[in-house]
Amino acid sequence: MSSPTSRSEWEQLAESITINGQAMINGQYQPAESGDTFDCISPIDGRLLAQVASCDYLDANKAVANAKAVFEQGTWSQLPPVKRKQVMIRFADLLEQHADELALLETLDMGKPIKFAKAVDVAGAARAIRWSGEAIDKIYDEVAPTAHDEIGMITREPVGVVAAIVPWNFPMIMACWKLGPALATGNSVVLKPSEKSPLTAIRMAQIALDAGIPPGVLNVLPGFGDAVGAALALHMDVDTLVFTGSTKIAKQLMVYAGQSNMKRVWLEAGGKSPNIVFNDAPCLKAAAIAAASAIAFNQGEVCTAGSRLLVESGVKDELIQLIAQELKSWQPGHPLDPDTVTGAMVDERQLENVLDYIKAGSDEGATLVQGGERVMEETGGAFVQPTIFSDVNNKMTIASEEIFGPVLSVIEFDGMEQAIEIANDTIYGLAAGVWTSNLSKAHKTAKALRSGMVWINHYDGGDMTAPFGGYKQSGNGRDKSLHAFDKYTEIKATWIAL
Ligand code: NAD
Repeated sequence: MSSPTSRSEWEQLAESITINGQAMINGQYQPAESGDTFDCISPIDGRLLAQVASCDYLDANKAVANAKAVFEQGTWSQLPPVKRKQVMIRFADLLEQHADELALLETLDMGKPIKFAKAVDVAGAARAIRWSGEAIDKIYDEVAPTAHDEIGMITREPVGVVAAIVPWNFPMIMACWKLGPALATGNSVVLKPSEKSPLTAIRMAQIALDAGIPPGVLNVLPGFGDAVGAALALHMDVDTLVFTGSTKIAKQLMVYAGQSNMKRVWLEAGGKSPNIVFNDAPCLKAAAIAAASAIAFNQGEVCTAGSRLLVESGVKDELIQLIAQELKSWQPGHPLDPDTVTGAMVDERQLENVLDYIKAGSDEGATLVQGGERVMEETGGAFVQPTIFSDVNNKMTIASEEIFGPVLSVIEFDGMEQAIEIANDTIYGLAAGVWTSNLSKAHKTAKALRSGMVWINHYDGGDMTAPFGGYKQSGNGRDKSLHAFDKYTEIKATWIAL
């Protein structure tokens, strides 16, 4: 069947697909042991999509025991890397073959535009799986520089059972940034998707089996964070916990690791990223287009959102005007319309959070330039306008807290030193943008920023080939690139006396 090309064709497809809400343990779809379910509601129109298994510690115990047994049997963990590579590539191919279905599930479940669900989410997830698979038979171990009568081998081994806990903003991509290197290196995985967007993870579990990943190697447990999430984080047989989500929960996971087995904990957490535009930016229009996309793309539900626009006094008014103009093309529309670029917020609660922040911005004295309103309420969906505040100072709530919605705070500065000081004055350190024609200023600013990623004269670039992650309370370790493989392997030194 050819791909849908209109909203009505996507709606027809939505009527025809079967949505599975069960957990996947040891290659079998099954309900939660308790029999409990929760309602999976679409933020597009409030419709019930599925009743989803509400897993807890009973399911965590079962999935981890199976994952551990499968790891020890070696059907996946001891497969030659070239064989694992072939299966991973097949997995990526199948994700692409199911692109329409997966994109549709993602859009219905979390409200993002179908256009991006397919071109960004499904494509990015498949790329992560394929890239990691292709890499695995090209990574060599090391031999230490030793005396002539001994050999010191430095080898990498899979850690064992990996628990991966992921958020709702890019459900497939966040999962596959973990699954790619975790599976390629031979681990068994228990994946816990967000309770707000569990559907694609559940579907991917079957696709992984179809690709040839053995039963028990990829388990998926939908459910709530304080139930199944906490059970995994406290589990004595989980060797490594990888997480993407808020800084608040990231800190809690470190506590859980300390209270249990000191499992390795790798955290990708929140951000409040500065996008710095100097008076000598090479093209103000290009900076405005990027700044608008940096706050509006994915409804602003992006960890690297350029939510603090630091602008030098000389270009402030013109830049704000250009961004305001640009954001007119980011107004919300129906997520299944292929022309829509801004969809619904993930749920009513997140919409309320965003509206509360908008109120706080006005209450604390920032100037509302544009937006600020809930829209399309008659659809039953959770839509909000992209919003700009100017006259913001860095201490205001909207400048210091992660909103995770399309709300831009414009902060004025004078000179490079002040820009760097304001940019770094945050608990976060995920990403930053710098716009200048001066090469020396670009390098000096990039070096001074306490941030895991810096984009010069653009915003939000990236690929599987480069690491993704943050400084400070934005987390530790990195997703993507070969650096991500560190999280999923232990290093062993073996000494041989000759
Ligand atoms: P969240 O921290 O509320 O939830 C993330 C996951 O943790 C969910 O699956 C949730 O169920 C689970 N969880 C919640 N409480 C738990 C507990 N006590 N024990 C174990 N698990 C628990 O985050 P969210 O609202 O889903 O996602 C938004 C956050 O994710 C933002 O802060 C955003 O910046 C961050 N994020 C970071 C990156 C990155 O790469 N740095 C990428 C995307 C999103």
